Amino acid sequence: MSPLTLDLSNHVALVTGASSGIGAATAKALGAAGATVVVNYRSEREGAEAVCAAIRAAGSEALAVQADVSSEADVEALFAAAKEAFGTIHILVANAGLQRDAAAHEMTLDQWRRVIDVNLTGQFLCCRAAIREFLARGPQPAISRATGKIVCMSSVHEVIMWAGHVNYAASKGGVKLLMQSLAQEYADRGIRINSIAPGAIRTPINREAWDTPEALAKLLTLIPYGRIGEPEDVARAALWLASDLSDYVTGTTLFVDGGMTLYPGFRENG
Ligand code: NAD
Repeated sequence: MSPLTLDLSNHVALVTGASSGIGAATAKALGAAGATVVVNYRSEREGAEAVCAAIRAAGSEALAVQADVSSEADVEALFAAAKEAFGTIHILVANAGLQRDAAAHEMTLDQWRRVIDVNLTGQFLCCRAAIREFLARGPQPAISRATGKIVCMSSVHEVIMWAGHVNYAASKGGVKLLMQSLAQEYADRGIRINSIAPGAIRTPINREAWDTPEALAKLLTLIPYGRIGEPEDVARAALWLASDLSDYVTGTTLFVDGGMTLYPGFRENG
């Protein structure tokens, strides 16, 4: 049995969209646990380099690699760069995502496609590349009981419908069955695949929901635990799912949402 620790020494992890927010916090957490980290970014090179500097300062190796996860060629180049630098990868955190909000009757096809391309197709492309590498490399029991581990960044909107955001909700609903189907398909090859469904986390993606006292007060009515989440709340969950402490867990979505999916509106009036 593996030791009861979160030690990720000798692991190589790749985190997409890691130049800010949840991805940056997750990359740092994996690095602090001893993993070498490939820090993917699309355009925020400075942010990615700052994350790499923090990981190196904590004693692990890090490499920033530019790639748009919605581009097949970019994703192939991203994984090739990781392999060339560090030999293989053991952990993928498919985190990159974005919003392009509009009322459904006003949503352009570009807005729809961009969100599906990044949030859903991007996760497929990254999962496919990681699984190919895990299968080609095979088990390394001295490093981990699992041949490979994938954490997909979903959202509470994989179950909560979201008016004004149909592209985003559809993409995360897609991630749910993408993750579960992949987990079913590859469990017998020692590959564990899970999702995290964050609730409201204080990052650039949802700044207008928390950066004024009025907006924050309105947001908090949706969160039974009474506070907004921080990127580190999600990073700690990703760390657990990426470690052997969660070795018997696959095909699961871990909600990290302060109770948002407990439907607090029903507490007194349901
Ligand atoms: P964020 O905007 O700080 O992070 C998103 C990251 O993805 C950014 O670094 C961005 O550059 C990157 N990205 C966007 N498009 C990309 C592309 N094509 N290729 C590569 N990288 C790309 O916001 P965040 O909140 O940290 O979001 C991270 C993930 O968490 C997303 O998948 C988001 O949907 C999910 N999420 C966030 C919340 C929240 O409340 N913040 C809640 C639920 C789910």
